Amino acid sequence: MAMNADAIVVGGGLVGSAIGYGLACEGLRPVVLDEGDVALRASRGNFGLVWVQSKGLGNPPYQRWSRTSSELWPELAERLRTETGIGVGHHRPGGVCVCLTDEEFGAREQMMHAMRSQMGEDGFDYRMLDRGELKELLPGIGPAVVGGSWSPYDGHANPLYTLRALHAGLAARGGRYVPEAKVQTLSAASGIFTAATAHGRFQAPRLVLAAGLGSAALAAQVGLHIPVFPVRGQIIVTERIAPLLRMPTLILRQTDEGSVMIGESREEGRNDDQSGIEVVHRLAARAVATFPLLAGVRMVRTWAALRVMSPDGYPIYEQSESCPGAFAATCHSGVTLAAAHALRYAKYVAQGSLPEEFQVFHSRRFGSDVRLAS
Ligand SMILES: Cc1cc2nc3c(=O)[nH]c(=O)nc-3n(C[C@H](O)[C@H](O)[C@H](O)COP(=O)(O)OP(=O)(O)OC[C@H]3O[C@@H](n4cnc5c(N)ncnc54)[C@H](O)[C@@H]3O)c2cc1C
Repeated sequence: MAMNADAIVVGGGLVGSAIGYGLACEGLRPVVLDEGDVALRASRGNFGLVWVQSKGLGNPPYQRWSRTSSELWPELAERLRTETGIGVGHHRPGGVCVCLTDEEFGAREQMMHAMRSQMGEDGFDYRMLDRGELKELLPGIGPAVVGGSWSPYDGHANPLYTLRALHAGLAARGGRYVPEAKVQTLSAASGIFTAATAHGRFQAPRLVLAAGLGSAALAAQVGLHIPVFPVRGQIIVTERIAPLLRMPTLILRQTDEGSVMIGESREEGRNDDQSGIEVVHRLAARAVATFPLLAGVRMVRTWAALRVMSPDGYPIYEQSESCPGAFAATCHSGVTLAAAHALRYAKYVAQGSLPEEFQVFHSRRFGSDVRLAS
């Protein structure tokens, strides 16, 4: 017998869980189906930035969408805290991209200037800081630092607490999260979607495909196209230390508990989540050049995880033309966009259509020239 819901969300990572929670906030009873621990899961291995300042050069709608999410994040964090009792460690103190050479600083300045120009009347608040100004914000910077860019939109959150709170919030509002429920096939008939799993069939009049790297293989069954592929990223975590960073930088952030996380690496052509010494060494060397104090701090853990990347790095949001009611959602920055997914994208799904400005995120922009996730 099939289990009925108002909406099926395939994938219980940050994207699917945020949308599932948002659908429950809209009064629907969604079921979120998740493959389980054996799946590749970026949401369990990421860096935790809610980051805007580098997003959307050449794509103003993406810049606006990222900024909208950053503005909605305090509301999402507060809702989750009130409804579930789980604090997700969200802070929005602004963020800095630190430059270690004049060339880096020059390139950054040009990029930030171009971003402001393209944003027109929406504006884009940032400042390029020389070494002296940056030292006032981040007193621990080393002699190698020449300056950096600052924007007020940036922040960070604990991704694992966020995920847990979204699952708890979903349940509190009458939705369901079903683990170990890998969707094997999807089908549509008479406006009803059926997801077949080893634990039975689930049926609903709405479907959101948000299974990260798992979406590529399922999409065509409901007339969607999600050509995502993996890009490996690695993270270092240090022992807990006294407050060093009052705001996150693109490669370093300090958690509420005091650990310093070091990230920002990208390796294409890798389909495994093994960490490697060369990348760890490079990340550590840059972190120490930025904050020399870190040279004496113990590293306690490293890990790698696979980003869910589209061919141009921008999100894919679309509604199926052959199976209306089926939506796709995938993005490179699922922490950053969690608030927009929960409090905006879910509304669009509940209402049954995406706004006109989302045309830019449709996968038709790739034509047939795409790399498929292996
Ligand atoms: C190293 C690293 C650092 C990052 N840093 C940041 C950052 O600082 N800020 C930021 O915003 N983003 C960051 N990201 C990106 C962010 O983690 C991802 O955008 C986000 O986690 C994607 O979420 P997702 O739900 O689409 O995918 P996933 O987390 O991969 O979740 C997909 C889910 O779908 C399930 N699934 C797959 N196939 C099926 C199926 N057939 N049936 C049912 N379920 C299925 C899986 O079990 C999985 O739980 C980083 C990523 C990495 C790897």
